[in-house]
Amino acid sequence: MSLIKDIQDDGFGGIPHNAITAKLEDLVGWARSRSSWPASFGLACCAIEMMATGAAHYDISRFGMEVFRASPRQADIMIVAGRVSQKMAPVLRQVYDQMMEPKWVISMGVCASSGGMFNNYAIVQGVDQVVPVDVYAPGCPPTPETLIHAIETLHQKIEDGELLKRRKATGAGANLHVTEIPAGAQPVPVILGTR
Ligand code: SF4
Repeated sequence: MSLIKDIQDDGFGGIPHNAITAKLEDLVGWARSRSSWPASFGLACCAIEMMATGAAHYDISRFGMEVFRASPRQADIMIVAGRVSQKMAPVLRQVYDQMMEPKWVISMGVCASSGGMFNNYAIVQGVDQVVPVDVYAPGCPPTPETLIHAIETLHQKIEDGELLKRRKATGAGANLHVTEIPAGAQPVPVILGTR
């Protein structure tokens, strides 16, 4: 009780010997969730919103995502931003296969998630046919606020460690659906570090 009171009063300086213990698994999950790097990979108009999310106004480097990596070997998040054509599907899969493990996928927009309004033979009717999707961001296009909400949701799940257990058990992604957030609206807070 006194330890909690000291922290409340004096922050970490209130801990007598400045020692914190944690499970290694928790620390690894915490570090992974705050240092994920997306691959540079945009397919259509949704990619413009993805680029806006990385630019100064939204600035996803606030979440440890400093740069979109030009090489998939330096990336661990694939944001599928836009419709996936049948011709592009094998290329997308190759980029995914070249990314480091553990890796995660966000499907951005209705076209990537379901083919959207392109219900024809040229467009893959859902990128989950090609790669395991962890988080779906709705919208046409999703606003940067929606994409950030999807990213924060993914970060929370990375920290939990549940995604890797699921991938090991089923080979599938987490299949989480986030809500759409209008441009300029206050994002729905995603509390990291809760289980
Ligand atoms: S969801 Fe809309 S914005 Fe995104 S790729 Fe499809 S048509 Fe373009």
